[in-house]
Amino acid sequence: MPQEITLEDCAGTIHPKAIEGMKLFNEGKFFDSHEELEAAWRDETGSIRDLYRGILQVAVTYLHITRGNYDGAVKVYGRSLKWTQFWGDVCRGINVKKLRDDAERVMQEVTRLGKERIAEFDTALFKPIQWNEKRVWTCDRCGAQMYEKNCKVTCPNCGNRFDCSDLNLYFD
Ligand SMILES: [Zn+2]
Repeated sequence: MPQEITLEDCAGTIHPKAIEGMKLFNEGKFFDSHEELEAAWRDETGSIRDLYRGILQVAVTYLHITRGNYDGAVKVYGRSLKWTQFWGDVCRGINVKKLRDDAERVMQEVTRLGKERIAEFDTALFKPIQWNEKRVWTCDRCGAQMYEKNCKVTCPNCGNRFDCSDLNLYFD
């Protein structure tokens, strides 16, 4: 599956239940987050469903950490990598790179603490998922509304353009 991912897979909108799941994730409600993301995963037929599965496994990883379940966290995080690593930096307006980096930092700390001290984990290390669900971009040169097509965002006023892979312009 992962090798078949194309830019077009990332050009659509985010499933509404995945948006709900990410909002709950950002509120630290990891169990409810996992339920919504699972509903999005079941409902979605395209390859993007595997990104939702990856995000839901990060939610479950964090849930295990809050419950002091070291082995569960390590196991589910390992699984999540399969579903999160092949997407680009940004997919459907979701900052996948940031999620990967945040989860990696969380797991470095979990590994450092180890099984005995996982209760000391500082939940401030759980960082929010970032996304741009409206996918409306404002031109940084002239302020006009830009349009997105196939991962290219173009300003109709001044011709300014950028690519989906150009992360900083998406999330400043
Ligand atoms: Zn412009």
